[in-house]
Amino acid sequence: MYNPKSLKAEEFISDEEIKETLEYAEKNKNNLSLVDKILEKAKLRKGLNHRDASVLLACENEEKVKLMYDLAEQIKKDFYGNRIVMFAPLYLSNYCVNGCLYCPYHLKNKNIPRKKLTQEKIKKEVIALQDMGHKRLAIESGEDPVNNPIEYILESINTIYSIKHKNGAIRRVNVNIAATTVENYRKLKDVGIGTYILFQETYDKKAYEYLHPTGPKHDYNYHTEAMDRAMEGGIDDVGIGVLFGLDKYKYEFAGLLMHAEHLEAVHGVGPHTISVPRVKPADDIDPNDFDNSLSDEMFCKIAALIRIAVPYTGMIISTRETPEVREKIIRLGVSQISGGSRTSVGGYTEEERPHDTEQFDVSDNRTLDEVVNWLMKAGYIPSFCTACYRQGRTGDRFMSLCKSGQIQNCCHPNALMTLKEYLMDYASPDTRKVGEALIEKEIDNIGKPELRPKVRDELKKIESGTRDLYF
Ligand code: SAM
Repeated sequence: MYNPKSLKAEEFISDEEIKETLEYAEKNKNNLSLVDKILEKAKLRKGLNHRDASVLLACENEEKVKLMYDLAEQIKKDFYGNRIVMFAPLYLSNYCVNGCLYCPYHLKNKNIPRKKLTQEKIKKEVIALQDMGHKRLAIESGEDPVNNPIEYILESINTIYSIKHKNGAIRRVNVNIAATTVENYRKLKDVGIGTYILFQETYDKKAYEYLHPTGPKHDYNYHTEAMDRAMEGGIDDVGIGVLFGLDKYKYEFAGLLMHAEHLEAVHGVGPHTISVPRVKPADDIDPNDFDNSLSDEMFCKIAALIRIAVPYTGMIISTRETPEVREKIIRLGVSQISGGSRTSVGGYTEEERPHDTEQFDVSDNRTLDEVVNWLMKAGYIPSFCTACYRQGRTGDRFMSLCKSGQIQNCCHPNALMTLKEYLMDYASPDTRKVGEALIEKEIDNIGKPELRPKVRDELKKIESGTRDLYF
């Protein structure tokens, strides 16, 4: 029986409820007066439930779809302005005991060398990332209790935070590791992680069990209930996601929103971020083996509808996507992107991009500087801000500041100040020129005029060598 407040996976992600939702959406996809009503509701910027959002996803009326896109763009502008937060993944280990059919790190893959970074090697990788200008990382690891126990992950996080090279620093470490226990989540919280990220891959239990035939990840309930354990362990900010292209996207979309509704109903705060990865080619993985791949167009529509359905939740897109898709999807709602990424273990310290341990083929191969330059020329402010969780603005505190719009008073100045640091320390001459002009222009867009002289002062301090200033 469907119950968003239940702590049992099969009750808050009820298969029956998803199927009824999809039937309802299919039946109403041409009911344009209902679509209009839902769009009116969406304009209130309080989000949509999974049923209403599913009707919009099913609706193919061109005029209405255009209205959805316009609204998504507007909501994105209202909540996130033109800022895009930058991050990079750091792969710690590709040892894995699971049998995921879409991932090259699966246990039976003997083609790839298995690698695990030592603490010394992590230091080198982190210095390389700092030298690019990164301040925020997402660490990634296969699941292997012997090779990658929680102690290894914790030690690695401490190492990452401890490295201060030139003006560099990693100020926020988000963590993407397999579902674990409340006790381990508490330990992650204690070493100061930012967001705990775990992709559901698919919300369909049957498909999930087929795609994860062996290993601890096979347990659908344990995996699906992970975010509740993370929150019980004190982690305020959790990031969910679906690996699109694995199963039927309409089913996944409804499941994703139901997961968000469940977290809100039980913990009083929804997910901090939603990621929208799509399955990519990799060693011994051919995405065409999964006959549910979805077009770029539908992918963008999903992103737009996530933006409308959960306006306060950040949305992340990785270098799995091409620059063209990234450009479109950023406009429709994405707030965080990776740049200059290497998806192999130890990849940042190699001269050439290594392919032997890559988790997936990267479709955006540009350097961080090129991505920053491109974003600015397209009118965005690349932000290296990590202030919120360092100021205790996490979980429901973050959400209430977000809902009242007050967060903008911090985000916009912080974006400009961290961009200034990037320009001073890492940018190419052209990027610096474009960035300085952008900052100058954007100071006038700081919502509270009384803050503008203060921000100018802080920017001057950064020019004179001070670092890590934030509101
Ligand atoms: N091992 C952890 C787990 O199982 O949740 C998390 C880390 S894994 C490195 C991060 C994510 O990469 C997975 O959750 C999956 O969605 C994604 N992934 C795996 N294989 C992929 C592929 N071939 N293409 C795109 N993304 C992939």
